[in-house]
Amino acid sequence: MDVERTKQYYDQLTEKDLCQCAYCKTYAKEIKTALPRLTAYLNRLGVDIEKPFEVLPLDESPESMEYLGVQYVVMGTAESFREITVDQARIYTTESHPNTGIEGEHFVIEIVPDKPFRLKRSEF
Ligand SMILES: [Zn+2]
Repeated sequence: MDVERTKQYYDQLTEKDLCQCAYCKTYAKEIKTALPRLTAYLNRLGVDIEKPFEVLPLDESPESMEYLGVQYVVMGTAESFREITVDQARIYTTESHPNTGIEGEHFVIEIVPDKPFRLKRSEF
């Protein structure tokens, strides 16, 4: 993986590049506070946790939203990436994702928690 290029990729992503559905917006707003260790881990890869490629929604209530998992783009090749568990979430590379539309070498990681992420529902 290429941490520098990954950072550059996330830096140039703006709000209009990101999904604006309630699941994605809630995730972006709450995930850092909810999972600081996962935030720090992704940061070391150059990945901005607030800019997911895809979230995998599970359920919602008036108070919270739940997620089965989330996917992120990482630049470079997947060769050096090793599966790891952080904040009780398994992180591994996946081929099962929508087309990223990105030119150049990159791959997608999927993060799947033991128990679905449950995040406080926020107002926008
Ligand atoms: Zn969305």
